[in-house]
Formats: sequence, C-alpha cells, structure tokens
Amino acid sequence: MKSLVRENDQVLTTSAPKRLHIITFGCQMNEYDSQRIAQMLMASHCLTPQAEDADLIIVNTCSIREKAEHKLYSLLGRLKRLKRSNPALKLGVAGCVAQQVGKKLFAKVPELDFVVGPQGLYTIPQILERLDKGQKHISDTELTKDFTIPYIDAPLPKKGDVRAYVTIMQGCDNFCTYCIVPYVRGREVSRPSDDILREIGQLVAQGVKDVTLLGQNVNSYGKGLDEGVDFPGLLKKIDANFPQIRLRFTTSHPKDLSDELIGCFGNLGTLCEHLHLPVQSGSNRVLKRMNRHYTREQFLEKVQKLRQVCPDITITTDLIVGFPGETEEDYQETLSLLEQVRFDQAFAFKYSERPGTAAARFKDKVPEEVKSKRLTKLLEIQNQIGLEQYGRFQGKVCEVLVEGCGQGGKLSARTRGNHVVNMEGGSDLVGRLMNVYIERACHHSLVGTIVH
Ligand code: SF4
Repeated sequence: MKSLVRENDQVLTTSAPKRLHIITFGCQMNEYDSQRIAQMLMASHCLTPQAEDADLIIVNTCSIREKAEHKLYSLLGRLKRLKRSNPALKLGVAGCVAQQVGKKLFAKVPELDFVVGPQGLYTIPQILERLDKGQKHISDTELTKDFTIPYIDAPLPKKGDVRAYVTIMQGCDNFCTYCIVPYVRGREVSRPSDDILREIGQLVAQGVKDVTLLGQNVNSYGKGLDEGVDFPGLLKKIDANFPQIRLRFTTSHPKDLSDELIGCFGNLGTLCEHLHLPVQSGSNRVLKRMNRHYTREQFLEKVQKLRQVCPDITITTDLIVGFPGETEEDYQETLSLLEQVRFDQAFAFKYSERPGTAAARFKDKVPEEVKSKRLTKLLEIQNQIGLEQYGRFQGKVCEVLVEGCGQGGKLSARTRGNHVVNMEGGSDLVGRLMNVYIERACHHSLVGTIVH
C-alpha cells in the first residue's frame, strides 16, 4: 500500500503499514503468542480491531476446550467472504488446531493462505514474503525436538497495564491421558534465562509491576538447556535482578513441585503468596488413569509443606469431573479433598473427549447427566468454601497493587495472594501499591477501603 507524504516541500512515496487483525481463542499462552506475532510483524503491520479493515487476518486457535475445530470452521466461513470481496487479503490459521488439522484445512477452506502450528508461528514473516512472491497454501506444522524459542522483544503492554505475562517454556512431556497439549504444542522447550530476564527488564521499563511466568509445566523449566538452571534457579535470578516486582507463575504440575520450589515461597520477596496447583481428582484410581504421577496423599503432603513455609498462601486448582470410569466413590473422594484442602478457587470442568488422546479410547464413559449433576454439586460446595476462604481477610489490612478501573467506576486492585479487591479511588492511583482495609468478601473478590 503506497501513500504520499510531504517533507521539506518534497513529495516522498512511502509504504504505509499494512493492517493486521488477530483473533485469539483460548488460554493465556495463546494471548501471549498473539502478542508475539504482532510484535514480529510490527515493522510492516499495525493492528486493527476491525477484520473488515485488515490486509492480514490471523486466527490463533486453541484446542484445550471442546469443539475448537467446529468453532474455527464457523469463523472461517465468515472470514472467507471478506477474502472474496478483497482478494488481496491474506488469511492464516495458527496454534493448536492448525497443528492438529494441518494441510487438510486448505481442502476445507481453500481461501486460507497459510497454516502454522505453535512452533511454526515464528516463520510467519517468511511465509508472508513467500505469499507475496505468488506461492499459495503454505503450511509449517513440523514439531521438531531441536526447536528453540527465538528471542523477540517484549510485546508492548497496553497503556496503563501494570501486569504482564512472560512465556518461559512451551510444550509438555507429561501426556496426561485427557490432554491434547503434548500432541499439538510438542515436547517441552525452555527459553534461555537471559532472554527471559531481558524481556522482564523491557516490561519493567515500560511500567509493568506484576509479572506472571507462563508455561504448560513451568516446574520442569530448564530441561534441555545447556546453562544448567532449573525453575527455582530461574526464580532466584529474577528475584535478584528485579526485587521491585511481584512475581507469579502458572501452571505447575504437582509431581514437579519440589521442596526447593516450595522453599522459594518462604525465601523470595518477589514471589507472591499464590500457587495454582491443578489436582484434577481426589481419587488415586482416577489420578492413575489420568497418568498424573502423584497420589492424593502426596498432593496433600505438598499442600501441608506449602502452608508450613507460607501460612497465608492462596492455593487454587483445576478439577475434572466425570473422567471415564469415575465412580460415585471416586467423585466423593474429590469432594472430600476439596473440604480437606480448602482451595480459594477451583476451576472445574466436565470431562470432554479430545480426539487422539489416550482417554478418548477409554470405553467406560460417564453419562452426560451424571457429569452435569456432579459438577453442579461440586461447584456449590467449592463456592461455599471459597467464600469462607476469602472471608479470612475480612477486617484485615492487605497490600494491593491498583490495576485499573473496574466495574461501577470502582478501582480494581490485586493482593499478593491474587485476590481482586474493588474499592473507591481515583484513576491516578493506578500502578500504586496501597494498604487497604478489607470490609467484606464476595464470591471471587473482596471489597475494601484505602487506609490513609
Ligand atoms: S501436564 Fe498434563 S494437563 Fe498439563 S499440559 Fe501437560 S499433558 Fe496437559
């Protein structure tokens, strides 16, 4: 696209940036990948919020949730009409569904120009050049063992954002029987620690104060790196270099939660008192069939150690109900685990099949209505526990980081334990650490007043 500009009374011809529209499905890691795509293409493309205005549309897909492929086809059905009215428009699909379906996507949607998996997304700039030279239907869905995550400058946080995410590793080697991730994101690959520190440094320079490290299984960070740094080692490096930030991480596998990592919650000032530790089930029989490599007892022991080291720690979890073969007794064990641990929050889902996974081949599926009943009951119990857990802050003063304006014109802030606090105050407080008196607890949030 050419445009004319006038400079010192001379008319110059320059190339205006093309317009990029990214549609992101799914998890935080995908959001982060979309930001990295935008960052990679920044020299030639600016972002547009309107698909209708775009010269390039990329759909970044996720197959963690159900019916991801179906949702993609229905979206592409709408996007291909844009391509028909603007043949210069480039259309690409990235991420996990692209990895799973691969070149077959071109047969279903011939208007598509390219398909890249989670490892292939770094080749998008080269793919665009090849498309400009007239090549068609380009795909990059190789998953290679020697893949390394290239360095890209930190995505610019949105104006006023005080929180940011930094991917430290991608892929997974665990093969939980219900999960598609190892098949679509490949084997675990960790980023060099210097790249991570550099990226955090850029974010901090732009005003970020709360950093969450991301990965499918952050606890096993460092595998395959020559530098010999493991996850506690990485946390210590970040803590030493950026003592002013709040540091968090997700997601942790309970089997890889070492004593040294638990100790970090007691030793590192930057590390916030919050751990998301997905247990998935309270039944040893189900955990075994899920291939989780820990027992209920081992999980409970880790929770106990965490609370010894850091008595105020917030522990949240993920749960699956109605996994194939889950009996009423297994389910009751999950409920009793909830009572025993008393999570601040639990993200619970009915089991849903992912084609290609081991559990998809299990014959003893739980009927849909049983799964629904179990989920409803579990959520009722957990909601009550969550409310009581949040209630422990009532009447206390907590330090919060003010993040922005939330619902009803109130300020939205966050405790170190990851509880959202709503309170009155001016937008000039965004980015500040404040002491707040907690008046009451609601489901999933707290209400407070600033202590002057
Ligand atoms: S640890 Fe299990 S659930 Fe998590 S990404 Fe890996 S295979 Fe999936």
